[in-house]
Amino acid sequence: MTDRMTRSEAEERAAHRDAVPSDPGFAEAIEALTRVRTRELRLPPAIHAAFRQATWQSRKKIIRAWLVSIALLNALCLPLDPLLADEQALGAFAAARFGLTMFLLAAAWLIHAMAKPGLEGVIMIACCAAVMVVAGATGLRYGPELTERYIVHAAFVAGSGVMVTRIAWRDTLILTGVSIALFCGFLLQIPDPPLSMNAAAQMALFYGGGLAGLTFARRAHDRLHYRVFVLTMSERLKMREIEAMNSRLFAMARTDPLTSLSNRRHFDEVYGALRIGADERSTIGLFMIDVDRFKQLNDELGHAAGDERLAAVAGLIRSELREGVDFVARFGGEEFVVLLPDVVLEEARAIAERVRASVENRALLNPGGLAGVVTVSIGVAAAPPGRLERLVEEADAALYAAKQRGRNRVELAAGAAVETA
Ligand code: GH3
Ligand code: MG
Ligand code: MG
Repeated sequence: MTDRMTRSEAEERAAHRDAVPSDPGFAEAIEALTRVRTRELRLPPAIHAAFRQATWQSRKKIIRAWLVSIALLNALCLPLDPLLADEQALGAFAAARFGLTMFLLAAAWLIHAMAKPGLEGVIMIACCAAVMVVAGATGLRYGPELTERYIVHAAFVAGSGVMVTRIAWRDTLILTGVSIALFCGFLLQIPDPPLSMNAAAQMALFYGGGLAGLTFARRAHDRLHYRVFVLTMSERLKMREIEAMNSRLFAMARTDPLTSLSNRRHFDEVYGALRIGADERSTIGLFMIDVDRFKQLNDELGHAAGDERLAAVAGLIRSELREGVDFVARFGGEEFVVLLPDVVLEEARAIAERVRASVENRALLNPGGLAGVVTVSIGVAAAPPGRLERLVEEADAALYAAKQRGRNRVELAAGAAVETA
């Protein structure tokens, strides 16, 4: 259970990291924004788009919940209508309430279906306008007192929409403007006895001012959200940098800098893993390769020339092997080790012979070497993965035999031919 949780947390963290845009401009802009004071925080368009996308899932849930709540609230008022409306008007009111509820639920479904942000502002403006219109129109049918009450309720709904749903700032301003306009519009239409201009102006000022105030409070709230976003992005970018650096260090710790082959440490890891994951049906071939008379090359041409030839020999060995299947490492000094999965001894010998010939044919100068060129001796062994313990020693013994028998040759481990027969 704990393991599973840890894994899913790790996956989540990885998904978050992957969600961070990888272009360097983004990282630079985020870094610059971490130094801006919250009060002055404004997101450039590209960062703002990333913010909207990153926060969409949570904002979407909030908008959907808000729309469903308002739809339900509206539906719950339905049983109260008979207490207020006369028989004649009742049908029209019920139809208006029902229509509004359906409209709000359809909007909630639309929001739910949106994978990306985009239309939420328009949807919210349309829904708040619909609430204002239905409330105002219904109120006008009931009489002045109820018109006033209904549009105040509707203004409250619009205010809560501004605060809660966090649609884009421009859309918020439009929503506020439309709501105030509708509020004042219905206020002016309140019939006999007409609301005095004084009272109407007072109300418009009070509720309009309240709505505008909420809108600006939302702006301050936005900046806090921006701040959280910027800090979160900055943390994720740093985390990604650290991970990239770690994997570079990890690769460096397993690579030989001179030849760019794997080093002894990496060989030990791979060899150890092969011994654990033993599959008895196949055999693994192993070469120990040693450059002949290399000390003399160093002595006569200098260490730098020696280094150059070592790197060249490493390249030649690698080019004779199967990429992504065979494994070659610098074992130490002028010695290399090769692992060949799923290869029987005869195949291993043929590959070793190819490697040897390739180095000889390259004819790199070694004044002290055989025929004046760089050559290698190779000891070959093979065994099933379950019996790898002595493979290195066996190949080493075969290498020793190759040296004894004149160098620039391939020798098989003693008894190896018998084992595979
Ligand atoms: P043999 O044919 O018996 O293998 O003779 P050898 O001279 O190659 O063997 P020996 O073990 O006596 O010498 C190995 C030499 O390899 C000694 C050392 O100076 C040289 N060597 C080891 N590592 C490096 C290296 O990284 N760069 C260079 N240039 N030389 C190296
Ligand atoms: Mg040696
Ligand atoms: Mg040598």
